[in-house]
Amino acid sequence: MTILDIDTDLLSNELQVTFDNVVGVTLSSNIKMDEEKLLDSLQHGINSLFQYTTQNYYHIDSCDSLFSYLFKTYENNFKDFTTSDNDLILLCTISTSLFLSKSSAQSLLLVYLLLNNLDGLEHHIDGVTPYLEAHDLRGLLFWAVKILSSINYDRSSDFNITYEYAPPKVTLDWLKKHRKPEQPMEFWFYNSIIGRSLFLVLYTPKCRYAKCSGCNLPSLSSQDKTTSPSKVYKQVDYVLHESISSGEKNTIKEVIVSNNGNLFDIKTMPTLSLLYSINTLIEELPNLKKIVIESRIEYLNEHQLKTIEEVVSAHEERNIQIEIALGFEIFDDEIRNGYYKKGFNKSDLEKLMPLFSKYNISLKFYMMYKAVPNMSTKNAIADINNASVYAHELFNEYSVGINIHISPTYVAVGTLLEKEFNEGNYEPPGPKEVNKLCNELILYNNVSYYISLNDEGLSYTHIEDDYREFIKLKKKIDYFNSYQKWKDS
Ligand code: SF4
Repeated sequence: MTILDIDTDLLSNELQVTFDNVVGVTLSSNIKMDEEKLLDSLQHGINSLFQYTTQNYYHIDSCDSLFSYLFKTYENNFKDFTTSDNDLILLCTISTSLFLSKSSAQSLLLVYLLLNNLDGLEHHIDGVTPYLEAHDLRGLLFWAVKILSSINYDRSSDFNITYEYAPPKVTLDWLKKHRKPEQPMEFWFYNSIIGRSLFLVLYTPKCRYAKCSGCNLPSLSSQDKTTSPSKVYKQVDYVLHESISSGEKNTIKEVIVSNNGNLFDIKTMPTLSLLYSINTLIEELPNLKKIVIESRIEYLNEHQLKTIEEVVSAHEERNIQIEIALGFEIFDDEIRNGYYKKGFNKSDLEKLMPLFSKYNISLKFYMMYKAVPNMSTKNAIADINNASVYAHELFNEYSVGINIHISPTYVAVGTLLEKEFNEGNYEPPGPKEVNKLCNELILYNNVSYYISLNDEGLSYTHIEDDYREFIKLKKKIDYFNSYQKWKDS
């Protein structure tokens, strides 16, 4: 079984772009590796660490030379900052795996192989495991730089190591085993139309509505009925003070704040915590432009909007946009409030539009693509396009900016949809169907769009299963999310 299948054209380009000391790189063939080959290559890479070479043109014709090349390159970054050969090897393996494969599963396999096959690394297994289990490549790299080297934490972004910005796979099991009290549920980076952005999911009591057919998010949240403001303060501080470098902070333009529920529900998110989060994000992220707050619409009221405005206007010169993200999910009223049990009415939204306009608040509509059984691809695309038309019309009437955030539906464990899937009544959209949506999506200049490929760690089946198609699609969508147009269109 092939477990690492490298796109050699892509890799060749990336090597030349990423490492400025390289004059040229050629790769002679498709490089595929099974577990045995990976182990050989790891061994070869480790051996090469300790040999001197001045070569700066590489012809990479085998897995062994690829690994050796990467190990050697990372050795230059790390050798002056580590005290033991084993720490250097682990750092080089983590860096190599992050560079080689943008798929977390493949990258992590390399690290697993090393830990299980090289003596003297056992004492690091406990430190590495939470990151491996969450497929958290970024967290793993930061752990490695912090624990294995004497490098100043804030310089870690200078090491030419690429890593995906995909969210970690946080499950209930993971939360029970590994989450520290001061940690949020999870956070990750994504690229929005205004630039690099942070998605922060706070760990608080679960969504009190908890009825939507396709959603199992409440199972991940705290089962406590209430939380104290200070528990939330600590989570915000943990991310901003301990988990993100100052270089990264400078690049963040937008933050989506979530608690996998409703941030305007004071029972699950005390108002003080919400205000603290907003104020701290503004103070800690010097180039922040927008804060997106997730909530169901029934928890919103003018008093909260006014209080938020007071916090934001204390930083008037920063011109921060507040956006409220609403789970619309399906445009068709009958399906949304029938099968899906969303309990969201357009009339409730329309009643609040003048308030959003008054407080200069923009909106995000979370839409699910093909969220219910028996919905054809054609109807699912039409449903998303109807939401696009609606957003365009709302903007014309109220001058409230709207972002349509589209997620291809995944089958979340423990939901009605999972039952339908198991009974053969439902198939989630795969990369080809998502591509069709991309090709037929109606775009308006006064509406912005974001397509998410995130399964929130809850997926039973996943779009990534068709890996090659997924990678092509991801590149296309990443470009669209940043530039709001399709490449070459
Ligand atoms: S989709 Fe939102 S409102 Fe519905 S149950 Fe899930 S968290 Fe609650």
